[in-house]
Amino acid sequence: MPGNKVYLITVLTLMLLAGFIATTLISYFAAARTLSSQVAEETLPLTSDNIYSEIQRDLLTPVLISSLMARDTFVRDWVLDGEGEVAPMLRYLQEIMDEYRTITAFFVSDRTFRYYHPSGVLKEVSPEDPVDSWYFRVRESRAPYEINVDTDTADRSRLSIFVNYRVLDYEGRLLGVTGVGLGVDAVVRTIEAYQRRYGRTIYFVDREGHVTLHGSDYSGARRIQDARGLGQRALQVLTSPSASITYERHDGRLVYANSRLVPEFGWYLMVEQDTVRGIRTIETSLLINILLALAVTALVLFGAYLTLSRYQQRLEQMATTDRLSGAANRQVFDIVFEHIAATLQRDPRPVSVILLDIDLFKEVNDSFGHPGGDVVIRQLVELIHRCVREEDTVCRWGGEEFLVLLDRCPAERARAVAEGIREAVKREPTVFGRDRIAITISAGVAELLPGEGATGIIGRADAALYRAKREGRDRVYLAEGAAPVAASVPGQRRYG
Ligand code: GH3
Ligand code: MG
Ligand code: MG
Repeated sequence: MPGNKVYLITVLTLMLLAGFIATTLISYFAAARTLSSQVAEETLPLTSDNIYSEIQRDLLTPVLISSLMARDTFVRDWVLDGEGEVAPMLRYLQEIMDEYRTITAFFVSDRTFRYYHPSGVLKEVSPEDPVDSWYFRVRESRAPYEINVDTDTADRSRLSIFVNYRVLDYEGRLLGVTGVGLGVDAVVRTIEAYQRRYGRTIYFVDREGHVTLHGSDYSGARRIQDARGLGQRALQVLTSPSASITYERHDGRLVYANSRLVPEFGWYLMVEQDTVRGIRTIETSLLINILLALAVTALVLFGAYLTLSRYQQRLEQMATTDRLSGAANRQVFDIVFEHIAATLQRDPRPVSVILLDIDLFKEVNDSFGHPGGDVVIRQLVELIHRCVREEDTVCRWGGEEFLVLLDRCPAERARAVAEGIREAVKREPTVFGRDRIAITISAGVAELLPGEGATGIIGRADAALYRAKREGRDRVYLAEGAAPVAASVPGQRRYG
C-alpha cells in the first residue's frame, strides 16, 4: 500500500506538472509570437506616427510665426519703402526672437539680397554661394514656405531648423524670404521623451544614410550603412518612403525598425525597438505561472496525500481490527509474530502468549440473547487492554476466544497477567440494561520455545486452556514445555 501511494502521488505529480508546463509554455510562445507581430505590425508604426505628428506639431509654431512675419505690413511697407533705415528692421527681428524664444529671426530682401538679422546685415546672398542655395530654392518655390535643416548663417557651428517663408507684396510679387530658426534641441527633446516613454530608439537619417539627429544616449553608427545588421537593410530604408524591417543588432538582439521619410526635412525618421522589454514582461509572467503551477501542484498533492492517508488508514483499520470488539484480527497476529520471530536471532528474548476463552458463554447467549453476549465480549476486550501493556497485541482469535501476544515477557509474568485478567473479569460483571452478567474465563499461557513457530506455541497454549476447562474452568494454566501432538483450530473442538 505505501508503494501504491508513492506511485499514485508520482503519477499525479507528473500529470499535474506536465499539464501546467504544457499550458505555460504554449501561452508563453503564443505571447512571444503575438508580441513580435504586434511590435512589427502595430506598435512600431503607431509610435512612428505619433513621433512624426509630434515633431510636426513642434514645427507648427515656428511656421505660424514665420507666416505672421511674412504678412506683417511693417515688413512689407518697409521693403516697399526702399529698405531705408536698417534699425527698425533689426529691432523688429530682435522682438520676434525675444518674444518667441527662437534662436534666430531673419529677413532676406529679394531686391538687395541683404540678409537681415537682429545683429545687423550679415551678408548679401549670392546664387554662386552654395551656402545660399536655400534662398534661391525658396525664391522659385510654389509652396508658401519650406522647412530646412541647415547650419545657421549667424552661427556656422549650430545646426538649426529653419522655416523659410516667402514674403509677397500686396499684388503677390516676391519681396523676399523671412522666418525663424529653432535649435534642433527641441526635436531632440521630443526624441528623448519618446525614447523614455516607449523604450524605443529614435533617430533621423538623411538620404545618404548619415545619422543626423538622435537622442543623447544614441550608440549606433554614424552611417546606417556601417551598422552591423542594419547595414544590409540600409538600401531598402533609403529607397522607400517607409519600410518595416527586422535585423540582428551587434549585441545579438533582434531589432524591429520602422523608417519613414519626413518630406519637410528630406530625412528618414527611424524608430527601433528590440524585443527585450516586452519579452521581459512575458518572462516575468512565465515565472509567475511556473511558481503558481508549483504552488497549485504542491497544494493538490498535499490534499491528495492527506485524503489518501486517511483513506488508507481507514482501510488498514478495517482490515486489521475486529468490528465488534475493536481487537486486532488474526492477520495482525501473524504479522506481529513474524516480525518478532525474525528479530529473535539478533535480539533473543522471552515471548509469551495467553489464549483465553469465556466459560460457558453459550449460557450467556441463552440467558441474555446475542446482544447481551456482544456487550460481554466488548467489555472483556476493554478489560484485557487494561491488564496488558500498550505494546502487547490483543487478537480476537475466535468467537469468544482471545489471544494476547506479549513480547519481552517470560511465561511466569504472562501467567500473572492472565491471572490479573481472570480476576478482573470475575470482579466486574458486565452491566447489560438492568442485568449484570457475571462471567469467568479460562486461559492457557505458553512461552515461545527456541525454534518454535506460531502453530507450536498456540497449540501448547490451547492445550493448557483445554486443561483449565476440563479441570473446572475459571483458572489459568501454564503450558508444558513441548508442543502438543495436534495443533487445534478454534471452533473445531469442544472443551466439554
Ligand atoms: P466453554 O466454557 O466450554 O467455552 O463453553 P462455551 O459455552 O463458552 O462454549 P464455546 O466456547 O464452544 O461456545 C462459544 C459460543 O459463543 C458459541 C457462540 O454462539 C458464541 N459466540 C461466538 N461468537 C459470538 C459473538 O460474537 N457474539 C455472541 N453473542 N456470541 C458469540
Ligand atoms: Mg467458551
Ligand atoms: Mg470458545
